[in-house]
Parts: sequence; C-alpha cells; structure tokens
Amino acid sequence: MTQPDLTCSSPPYWRVAVIGSGPAGFYAVGELLKQQEMPVKVDLFDRLPTPYGLVRGGVAPDHQKIKAVCKIFDRIAGQEHFRYFGNVEFGRDLNRSEMLDHYDAVLYTVGSRSDRKLGIPGEDLEGSHSATEFVGWYNAHPDYRDKRFNLDSEQAVIIGMGNVAIDVARILSHRHEELAQTDISDEALSALASSRVKDIWIIGRRGPVQAAFTPVEARELMHLPETEVVLEADALDLDPASQRFLQEEAGKDIRKNIDLLEEMLETPPREKKKRLHILFLVSPVEIVGEQGKVSSIKLRRNQLVEKPDGSIRAEGTDRMLELKTGLVFRSVGYRGEPLPGVPFDEKSGTIPNEQGQILEEGSPCPREYTAGWIKRGPSGVVGTNKPDAIESVKKMLSALDSSGKKPLETKQVPDIAQLLRNREVDFVSFQDWKLLEDYETKAGEAEGRPRKKVGTVKEMMEVVRSLREG
Ligand code: NAP
Repeated sequence: MTQPDLTCSSPPYWRVAVIGSGPAGFYAVGELLKQQEMPVKVDLFDRLPTPYGLVRGGVAPDHQKIKAVCKIFDRIAGQEHFRYFGNVEFGRDLNRSEMLDHYDAVLYTVGSRSDRKLGIPGEDLEGSHSATEFVGWYNAHPDYRDKRFNLDSEQAVIIGMGNVAIDVARILSHRHEELAQTDISDEALSALASSRVKDIWIIGRRGPVQAAFTPVEARELMHLPETEVVLEADALDLDPASQRFLQEEAGKDIRKNIDLLEEMLETPPREKKKRLHILFLVSPVEIVGEQGKVSSIKLRRNQLVEKPDGSIRAEGTDRMLELKTGLVFRSVGYRGEPLPGVPFDEKSGTIPNEQGQILEEGSPCPREYTAGWIKRGPSGVVGTNKPDAIESVKKMLSALDSSGKKPLETKQVPDIAQLLRNREVDFVSFQDWKLLEDYETKAGEAEGRPRKKVGTVKEMMEVVRSLREG
C-alpha cells in the first residue's frame, strides 16, 4: 500500500475522489488532470484490486483490440497528482460522509453491475442465467468465479438482441483453439472445451430494423469457422412501419444491419458443426423446468405496431412455439445498483443528476457528481463515456470555482490513506496493480495468451503482497 504522500502541497490543490475505475472513471480523471484552470489532485477508488471496470470484466476476451484502450488509461494514471486505491469498497471501507470530509468533490462512476429481469415464470430455475453472470465468468471477474453453466445442453437460448447477446453467442460458438489464444478465464476455457452446445438461439422481441446489435459485431458471426448463421425464410419480410422507418429515418448502422442480414439469408447452408439461429419477433412467456432445471422455453410470436408517439412496439399474437433447452441467458440490458447513502432512482437504475451533478430530492448536491452508465443508463460503447465524463467534470469544476470556498487542503484535512491504514484496509496502488498485471502477462506468455487472469480477490492480494515485498 505504498502511495506518494500528497499531503503537503503548494499551491493548495482541490482534492477530487472518483469512485469506480472503469472507462467513465478514467476519462474523468484524464479530464481533471488535463485542464489547466484549477490545480487538482485525484484519487481513483475501486472495490476490486484491478482497474478498468468493464474493459477487463466485460469486453469479450476475443476482442483484445478494444482492450487496447487501457494504454490510454495507463498514460492517465502515470501523471503527477494521481493515486489509485484498489481493493477499497465504497460503503464497506469508506462512506459518503467520510468522502465528503476528505475531498472537495466526489464523482461516482460505478457503472451498472446488475442486470434487468424479464419477470416471467421460471426465470430463477437452474440453467437460467443473466448474460452478466456468463460474461463475468468467462472474463474471470471474481464475483462470478463460482458460477456453473449447463454446457451439456445441446441448445442454448439468448434473450435480447444487443451486443452482449452477440458476445455470448460468439463465445458459445468459438472453437477451443480460438478461445485458447485469449485471456478468457481458465474455468471457462476448460468448461467450453467440452461444451455440447450445437444450436444457439438469439431471440428478439422486435424485428431486424429494431435489433440493438451493431453491424461490425454482427458481421463477426458470419466468420465463425464452426458455426453458421440461420434465419427464418421470412425474417426480412418487414411490416409497413419498419419499412417506412428504414426508408425515411434509419441511420447507417440499421441499414448496414439489414444488408448484413440479407447476406446471411442468401448464404447457402454449409453444414457446419454448430448453428446460430437469429429469431425475430418472439417474446419469452415462460421458462419451463423439470426437477428444478430448465427444460424448455415457451415463446410467443409478435407482430409490430406503430404507436401514436411513432415508436414501433411488439404485440403478442396467439402463435406460440417452444424450444427445448437446458440453458437460457437473459441479455436484456444491465442495471445500476444503489450505492449506500447515495441518491438513486429505482426506476431507471441510475443516480439522479443534472449534467452529471447529483440531485438529492430534486436539489443539486454542490460537491457530488456522477458519470458513465450509473449517470445515463447502460448504453453506448467505451468511447461514449469520454464526452459524458467531460460534461460531469466541467460541471464539477465550475461549481467548485464559483463556490467561494477554499480547497480543503488549506484546512489541514488529513489524507484518506491514513484513515484506510487505521482501518487496516490493504489498498492497492497503481504500482501494485502493475506488479499484478506483469504477473498475469508473464503467466499468459507461457501459454501464448495475452494474460492469464488471477480469478479471486484473495489470490490477487496474495500475488500483490508477495511481489511488493520482494
Ligand atoms: P442493449 O443494447 O440495450 O440490448 C438489449 C436488448 O434486450 C434489446 O434487443 C432489447 O430489445 C432487448 N430487451 C429488453 N427488454 C426485453 C424484454 N423484456 N424482453 C425481450 N427483450 C428485451 O443492451 P446490451 O446488449 O446489454 O448492451 C449494453 C451496451 O453495451 C450497448 O450500448 C452495447 O452496444 C454495448 N456493448 C458493446 C459491445 C461492443 O461494442 N462490442 C459489446 C457489448 C456491449 P428492444 O430493443 O425491443 O427493447
């Protein structure tokens, strides 16, 4: 737990705490340290020893190029006036009022760690999971290390048509050789090696024009060596409202999706080992179980209707179908979780805010801000968090500047590191993290992989302690 001593300083610096070291947190730190108007020192906290949030624990292991953004985050972390406090959990090790006692401003960037439910019977049966659990498991996120998935089932059903559903489908479709070159968790690598999954269904409640996946991600499905994409023959027979939308309003991603789906439909069957079925216009109504385990899923065919507000919604018909399966993933979006003592809107799963400034019972909190998914909801790619974080940082700095107050440093407020030491919290500095990263990278190199992730907090801390001492 070595950290630079930042207590003595001139000029007095504004101290800012950022809670959550995913993309939004790092982009916010970058902006805070880049601006020249106000002298600022930043402490970045994470409940895990490891930084980078969903870039480490969410981005699929076969998408290493996306993970290259960590180089930018490392450059940000290398700056003067930055400290990292990993293995420090807000609400357990530090609370809201302690943060406000030690910092001039606090920015919450904790993302959306939970998932949305479907609210249908059978959702809690064994074999029914959130995509979040599967994604966390294959990415060696410590929270999901002990999860088990029924990969003996020959059919797997993924509900939802976003990029997470595409990730899950791709990971289930890959050959062992492809996965073995990635930083997938060891548990997932070995379980998937003996997977019997042959038919993977991606289920969308609306049609091709409304699919939430993006063309670059969907195109990858066409290049899976062992898996072919299957669409129903009438999959692209669009309803009048979708046709009109496609012709008059659709952006380029939707048009590209339709072109791609046409290409998929026209590709002759190639008799590959696995099939990936993309099924539009169906909603799950029940996950059926036998002896407590998923045995099938009942689906209702939908039709699309245009509402007076112009939105195109799914409406159930009386046509039903049932798919036999022992493995169901709901991939219908992430959901934010409340932080102890911090305002939270249950309906949207976000922290209520105005341009990033937190609202408590409708009134702005002068020293508290938020950015990323917990601010705006779980949408967008990694880069979307940059302008989002900049907006929040600008709002924070202008409020501090016009507050008429002096930085807390002028009042000899003690360093947070002292409070953590008093509590015997073994926090991880960025230097410590780099030791752990180096350990993971070397272990990966030996197997021709980018890294071999350490999968529990306990083991991570053991590695950190032994390396920092020796
Ligand atoms: P998402 O893009 O919001 O997709 C959610 C899907 O779930 C939609 O198809 C939605 O359909 C469906 N859905 C919602 N409620 C449903 C219900 N009750 N019944 C049936 N279907 C339902 O969410 P995501 O896939 O979790 O992705 C989150 C964000 O991360 C997205 O912005 C995504 O692009 C991003 N991401 C990017 C990448 C990448 O760039 N490679 C990878 C992963 C994730 P409706 O449209 O009908 O609501």
